[in-house]
Amino acid sequence: MKLASGTTLIRNGQLIDGTGAAPIADAALLIKDGIIAYAGPAADAPATEAPTQIIDAQGGSILPGLVEAHIHLTYFNVTELQDLDIKYPVEYVTLQSAVNARTALECGYTSARSGGCLHNIDVWMKKAIEEDMILGPRLSASGREICGAGGLMDWNPDYRKIGMEGIVFIVNGPDQARSAVRKLVKDGIEWVKTYPTGDAASPDINDHHTLCMTFEEMHAVVATAHNHGLKVTGHCRATEGIRNALKAGYDCIEHGTFMDDECLDLMLKRGVPMCPGLGFELWSVQRGREFGLSQRVIDGHQETLEGGVESCRRVLKAGGVMGLGGDYGFGWTPHGTYAQELTFFVNHVGFSVLDTLKCATLGGAKIMGRDHELGSLEKGKLGDVLVVKGDVMRDISLLENRNHLMAVLQGGILKAGTLAHNAGGI
Ligand SMILES: [Zn+2]
Repeated sequence: MKLASGTTLIRNGQLIDGTGAAPIADAALLIKDGIIAYAGPAADAPATEAPTQIIDAQGGSILPGLVEAHIHLTYFNVTELQDLDIKYPVEYVTLQSAVNARTALECGYTSARSGGCLHNIDVWMKKAIEEDMILGPRLSASGREICGAGGLMDWNPDYRKIGMEGIVFIVNGPDQARSAVRKLVKDGIEWVKTYPTGDAASPDINDHHTLCMTFEEMHAVVATAHNHGLKVTGHCRATEGIRNALKAGYDCIEHGTFMDDECLDLMLKRGVPMCPGLGFELWSVQRGREFGLSQRVIDGHQETLEGGVESCRRVLKAGGVMGLGGDYGFGWTPHGTYAQELTFFVNHVGFSVLDTLKCATLGGAKIMGRDHELGSLEKGKLGDVLVVKGDVMRDISLLENRNHLMAVLQGGILKAGTLAHNAGGI
């Protein structure tokens, strides 16, 4: 991805650097050739030759670009699983994904890690974004997912004689798990996404307390993936699934819903981050009926919500790393509403605004393995910045409304926000 040339000065706003540090009032952020040269009080800013670009934050907030830590670019606001993999061809899904990538950037998300995708679209989406062919977040790609036979994603009855190769490899035993990873290695992905457990979405045979892969299958995935330098994550709700994942050597835990003391200890000891993706549960409870979810499914989401809230509070208190985002791309969590997750963490889970922003920026960058170059506003990092109209410390929900996003920069280049639409406004 291209970097800006010249100097950009962002001034007249409070700076929240993403590390959890207190905001700096009347701050200045200086970006030179796409890289942050200074972030701090305006009074201490180094003298510089006339900047090529000046952005006046108008008393608002200057933040690192947000990181969506569990994005599904290929889920296009679907309401049922059949919408994925069966109803639409790869060509259409790819076009949808390109639109979703642009939407994510316009919502202030300058980076994202995939939580699984159809076919191998993420890998090519990442290339197109990196080559500035399309707009989108800097991406960590995952490809097709892996689930045990009879598990959550193996929902297609055999009489239909339809496979699920577009979204998931269905594996039976460690040998098949290994061969699925080997296929993914050739695809060029970074994250192997697996299904150690079920979910409230499948109350009859694969609910949130059910295991969907054996420890041996999970271990085979990790050994093969690590051998080739890939990382492994998994959809983990049931306590035993979380424990299996941590013992098998997983690099991240998605959801981590029913976390007990042993799991928390294992997670902290190995420094494994977690992406709760929890707002989805509340929206499923609140809007499920409207989209035809059964009462049993909604009740399961309520139980998942309560378990997840408890688990997030414990992980935060224990000093664990979390990234925010997750499962936007369903009918009741459409693309473009990602920042609801931050409001949810402040209002419903009880995180402070600073902790929430830290998870939504630096936490996500850590999950991506790119915290040395993005996720916070610090000297030497990429100029990925979000300028928001208003005080996000007082009202985090400002981030939900794109009209409040004045500037979204990647590598110092203004890509989106109201100033980008308004030529001459900068
Ligand atoms: Zn997901």
